[in-house]
Amino acid sequence: KLSAHNLNLYFGEKKVLKNVNIDFPKNKVTALIGPSGCGKSTLLRTFNRMHDLSPDARIEGVVKLDDLNIYDNKNSVTEIRKRIGMVFQKANPLPKSIYDNLAYALNIHNFPKDEIPSMIEKALKESYLWEEVKDELKKPAVKLSGGQQQRLCIARTVVLRPEVILMDEPCSALDPISTNKIEELIMTLKNNYTIVIVTHNMQQAQRISDYVAFMYLGELIEYDTAENIFKHPQQELTKNYVGGHF
Ligand code: ATP
Ligand code: MG
Repeated sequence: KLSAHNLNLYFGEKKVLKNVNIDFPKNKVTALIGPSGCGKSTLLRTFNRMHDLSPDARIEGVVKLDDLNIYDNKNSVTEIRKRIGMVFQKANPLPKSIYDNLAYALNIHNFPKDEIPSMIEKALKESYLWEEVKDELKKPAVKLSGGQQQRLCIARTVVLRPEVILMDEPCSALDPISTNKIEELIMTLKNNYTIVIVTHNMQQAQRISDYVAFMYLGELIEYDTAENIFKHPQQELTKNYVGGHF
C-alpha cells in the first residue's frame, strides 16, 4: 500500500503539510478534498517525488509504497514513477503521434521492443480510447479532443503497468460528457490500480470514491469512507466543507 507517516513538507520556511499520516487502500479510489491551497496537490506530488524539481522543498517523515521507501536515494525516480503514475489537470501529451506518446514511455522504461505494440493496444483499450483511435495511431496526439488527450495521458500511465495512479483534478478542464467518460474509466481502473484523485467537485467525489481524505491548511482533518464523510462527518470543518459552507 501507499502510505505517508509523520509527513511534514516545507517550502522554504513555510510548512505546507503538517504531520500527515495516511494509508491508501489497494484497488480503491480515494478522493483528496479541501479548500484551495490546503495542500492536496502538494501531498499528491509527494508520492512520486515531484518535489525533487523544487529546490526549496524539504520533506520529513516516511513515504512508502509497500517496502519501497520513496525518498531513499538508492531508489531511482524513474522506477518510482513507473510504479506510481501521475495524471495532471491539463492533459499534456508530447508533440508526437498517439502511438509514439505511449512508445516513448515504454522505451524510457526499457520494455522489450517486440512487446510494445501489444502493450500499447492493451493500454488504449483499458483507457477507453482504442475504438476511437485504432485507425489513426500515427495522428499527432495534440489533434485529439481535450477528453481524448486526457484519456491518452491516462493510457500513458497505464501502459507502464503501475500499482498506483495519482490524478490531480483530471476532469476540471473537461466538459460534462468527457468528465463522465473519465469517471467511468476511473471506476474500472480501480480493479487493477490504487487510485488517488484530487477533486473540487463533491458530486464527483461522491460518484467515484470509496474513501475520502479532507484536508485543511496542510492538515489531514478527517479520513474515512466516502459514505461517512458525506453522510456522517465527525469534524465540524468537514461538515462545513462538504455542506458547501466554505
Ligand atoms: P488548489 O485546490 O488550488 O489546487 P491545493 O490544495 O492543491 O490547492 P497546493 O497547490 O498543494 O494546494 O498548495 C499548498 C500550499 O503550498 C499553498 O499555500 C501554496 O501557495 C504553497 N505552494 C505550493 N507549491 C509551492 C512551491 N513550489 N513553492 C512555494 N509554495 C508552494
Ligand atoms: Mg491543487
